[in-house]
Amino acid sequence: MDLGTSISEFFGRKKTIFSLEFFPPKNETGGEKMLNTAKLLKPYKPDFVSITYGAGGGTRKTTLHYARILKQEFGFEVMPHLTCVGHTVKELLEILDEFSNEGFCNIMALRGDPPKGETSFKPITGGLTYASELVSLIRKHYPHFGIGVAGYPEKHPESLDKKSDLTHLKHKVDAGADFITTQLFFENEAYFRFANECKKEKISVPILPGLLPVLSHGQVQRFCKMCEASLPNELESKLLEVDEKSQPTVGTQWTNEQVKELLQKGSPGFHLYALNQATASLEILRGLGN
Ligand SMILES: Cc1cc2nc3c(=O)[nH]c(=O)nc-3n(C[C@H](O)[C@H](O)[C@H](O)COP(=O)(O)OP(=O)(O)OC[C@H]3O[C@@H](n4cnc5c(N)ncnc54)[C@H](O)[C@@H]3O)c2cc1C
Repeated sequence: MDLGTSISEFFGRKKTIFSLEFFPPKNETGGEKMLNTAKLLKPYKPDFVSITYGAGGGTRKTTLHYARILKQEFGFEVMPHLTCVGHTVKELLEILDEFSNEGFCNIMALRGDPPKGETSFKPITGGLTYASELVSLIRKHYPHFGIGVAGYPEKHPESLDKKSDLTHLKHKVDAGADFITTQLFFENEAYFRFANECKKEKISVPILPGLLPVLSHGQVQRFCKMCEASLPNELESKLLEVDEKSQPTVGTQWTNEQVKELLQKGSPGFHLYALNQATASLEILRGLGN
């Protein structure tokens, strides 16, 4: 069995890391669409792909199922996500065992969101409260795993202020995280400011900017509301100036410009929230050339 490579080894070895994020499809049609997207994007050789983990642990089996296909059939280095939501430590260890037995050695360690209708996260009995605890758990039992954690250039919505958010991010890194993938943002200034703030806090792991190619005005409004990211006036005006059919082109051009500037100014790479759709990611990758 291919035992995989810790993603932490990629950083430093390569100048630019490029990764893609998928989500576990809800049904067979969604599965076919996702796998077709993977097929179309494979020639661009992502350094790794990640697959999210659904709220409430509901996608445990689906995440593993598609992670396996992405690894075995496409040869990707796959990083499954894992959240603390609804799981005891015992269950988390069982899931980690399952991932490890299948040859995965990278995990995106997350707390997860509170269930719908609740504003704060409450751990279940025997469960974990923060992602930093999950990182510690993984480090203790799987010292060789690559561990990614989430970072928030515009602050996590539940955090009182940026300072405490950064302190908590540092806990995750001190607990053993190898790199940070950011929440989506549409103004690169937010990323560069965040990277500087992390530096001041002595957070020195690579920070991979997470970018969402916008497909429509409605979609970006929903996402920004959900994660409290800013939607720049300029991007919003550009989207509203064109008809709905042309909005993906506007979104793709915006992401393209973001990636170019991020790489020029020294980001370690970029992570595309591909949303199981190939068109926008393909255009961005073609636009970047080599
Ligand atoms: C790249 C990325 C991938 C994601 N993938 C998924 C996914 O697959 N599935 C999913 O359900 N969600 C996913 N999310 C969303 C994520 O689960 C939510 O943003 C969630 O609300 C926080 O998760 P976290 O891991 O950042 O939590 P944490 O790092 O635990 O932080 C949560 C909040 O608690 C605060 N905090 C942390 N430690 C302490 C402490 N010791 N004392 C007090 N406060 C503290 C933090 O500042 C923050 O406000 C993803 C987000 C990102 C950016």
